[in-house]
Amino acid sequence: MKYCSECGSEVSLKIPAGDSRERHVCDSCGLIHYLNPRIIAGTLPVYEDKILLCKRAIEPRRGYWTLPAGFMENGETTAQAAARETIEEAEANVNIHGLYTVFNLPHISQVYMFFRSDVIDGHFGVGEESLETQLFDEADIPWDELAFPTIHRTLKLYFEDRKTGHYPVRLEDIQPRVKKS
Ligand SMILES: [Zn+2]
Repeated sequence: MKYCSECGSEVSLKIPAGDSRERHVCDSCGLIHYLNPRIIAGTLPVYEDKILLCKRAIEPRRGYWTLPAGFMENGETTAQAAARETIEEAEANVNIHGLYTVFNLPHISQVYMFFRSDVIDGHFGVGEESLETQLFDEADIPWDELAFPTIHRTLKLYFEDRKTGHYPVRLEDIQPRVKKS
């Protein structure tokens, strides 16, 4: 951040009184600009035991498969955000059943939340941010072409839990990928 969103003056990094971290503080009006983690909400959309995945049309990870998910907007709940993203990316209306996975990604200051859901009437399409959408049986999941570790983990946990029909909420921390030498 270089300029104050309130008055347009330059900002400097400093520790405000009573704080313990550096913040962007406006040199002119004194406004403190807090930067906090962002929440990404998505669904695990199921229809007749198949999972609806979207092939990403946008970077990052263009051409890789993902569950529908995206950044929350102001004024909506996490479940509303997840359902909205599912309409936008897969043109699918879903019944949300409940929170399923939560991932902390502290290295990029993001939190992912996925909800289990049913695709209403099995209707879906290809949204603006997708190249293609498809229902996958467990045996056909493109494990090597999944966009993010959060997607991989959510699918792995789901197929494991499906054996018992019991879906406890899972909270996991995801660390940065280690580059293979
Ligand atoms: Zn300012």
